[in-house]
Amino acid sequence: MHRYQMYIDGKFVDASSGKWFATFNPFTGEPWAEVAQGDAKDADRAVQAAHKAFTEGPWSQLNASQRGMLLHRLGELVARDAKKLAEIEVRDNGKLIAEMQAQLNYLPQWCYYFGGLADKIQGAAIPLDKKGYLNYTRHEPLGVVVAITPWNSPLLLLAWKLAPALAAGCTLVVKPSEHTSVSTLEFVKLIEEAGYPPGVVNVVTGFGQDVGGPLVEHPLVRKIAFTGSDANGRAINQAAAKTFKRVTLELGGKSPNIVFADAKMEDAVNGVVSGIFAATGQTCIAGSRLLVQESIHDAFVEKLLALAKIARLGDPSKMETQVGPVTTRPQYEKVLSYIDIAKNEGAKLLMGGGPATRPECGSGWFVEPTIFAGVQNRMRIAQEEVFGPVLSIIKFKDEEEAVAIANDVRFGLAAGVWTGDIGRAIRMAERVQAGTVWVNTYRAVSYLSPFGGYKDSGVGRESGIEAVHEYLQVKSVWINAGAPTGNPFILR
Ligand code: NAD
Repeated sequence: MHRYQMYIDGKFVDASSGKWFATFNPFTGEPWAEVAQGDAKDADRAVQAAHKAFTEGPWSQLNASQRGMLLHRLGELVARDAKKLAEIEVRDNGKLIAEMQAQLNYLPQWCYYFGGLADKIQGAAIPLDKKGYLNYTRHEPLGVVVAITPWNSPLLLLAWKLAPALAAGCTLVVKPSEHTSVSTLEFVKLIEEAGYPPGVVNVVTGFGQDVGGPLVEHPLVRKIAFTGSDANGRAINQAAAKTFKRVTLELGGKSPNIVFADAKMEDAVNGVVSGIFAATGQTCIAGSRLLVQESIHDAFVEKLLALAKIARLGDPSKMETQVGPVTTRPQYEKVLSYIDIAKNEGAKLLMGGGPATRPECGSGWFVEPTIFAGVQNRMRIAQEEVFGPVLSIIKFKDEEEAVAIANDVRFGLAAGVWTGDIGRAIRMAERVQAGTVWVNTYRAVSYLSPFGGYKDSGVGRESGIEAVHEYLQVKSVWINAGAPTGNPFILR
């Protein structure tokens, strides 16, 4: 079985403990590679390397345009190897090859965009109220950044952190999910090939508590960029607060997909299916609550079932597959347990409702696309993130009630609104509490547009100009150009 070492200070190395752990193919349920199992010692080595690169290495001597050119080069290398990287992602996390190829083909745009932004990060000369001073600001990199990523889209979510961090001039220690470390270890080879000096990007593999914990606590780290569950995000935020680290947290969701009677029915059905069954529902932006206006409920549900029932499950490495396996065994069990919870709460099962045993699913961790109707918004199935192909349908009467239900949840990551009325679209976009609102579309993202959560869905933004400021701190410089000396005992 192939073994993957971790990457510290420009070298591929074993874990200091010499231990390895297996990574699994969700389609077969079998291990396919081994990965170095790091611990606090490896975390410290990586942070020391990143700190040295930030403070005294050649990286610290590069100007912003040079940093931008390196990112551009990295983007070109990812574009060159997109197919290979996508195939590794599929083997490790079971997502569809069609989706992962699209993600990997798009990923270079984050490198190009933030590469272009690197030398446009500017301070300002402030027109002061006080005479005799020049006051200006500098936007300086925070320092060592720890990027902690989940298993659902490992490289794309890494790029969302790494590109703005490198554009800002930070250095990184990356901790990929223990379920999907391999693509990040392949990606870091491109960092080396692009010409990044040793220590600028390091990858420490291993488990959350063993590696992620010590990284978050490390006193030389200045920022944590985390994507994952809200429970771990909360723990990380608390631990990071002890040393006043900055954080970006991209957490879970329970996003409403809201369909009004005046919507184009076919488009809305398509968007609802894409919102919950694409990526097997394992996406933070899953539209897991379908809010349908009473007057069209039955007709809409009929069309929805017709489309959902013909979804093709199977081998994620085949282009024609539409729904792949659940990525990990514990996640598979969690999804099934939520199906039981919904049944016990009295939700009405319309389709699916258990493991998928179709022959094309082999021995993989498959769950049948599942739809529940008659869901009350206070039920657990409507309030808690399942992170699987399970949709809850809730009826509403009018706009007021739709807004009330949409917002009656502790998350606020995304929302979909389906309507033919532009005024309603604008009102809904204003009133729904979510970091992203899609009107007559769903699951669209761009490197140009800020992404992040309201409420318990997160802190900070990734992508767009906002993202680079998450890796910068502002310094105010005062120069006395002839100001009167004044009374030394009062504020100048
Ligand atoms: P997870 O929280 O279990 O793990 C994420 C990462 O955190 C992994 O690398 C893990 O090893 C690490 N980790 C775990 N405990 C840690 C600790 N105590 N200290 C430091 N690091 C620790 O999440 P997951 O199961 O990999 O991913 C699924 C979750 O991610 C879902 O809740 C989903 O909604 C969320 N998600 C959010 C977004 C977004 O952008 N908002 C995108 C994708 C996924």
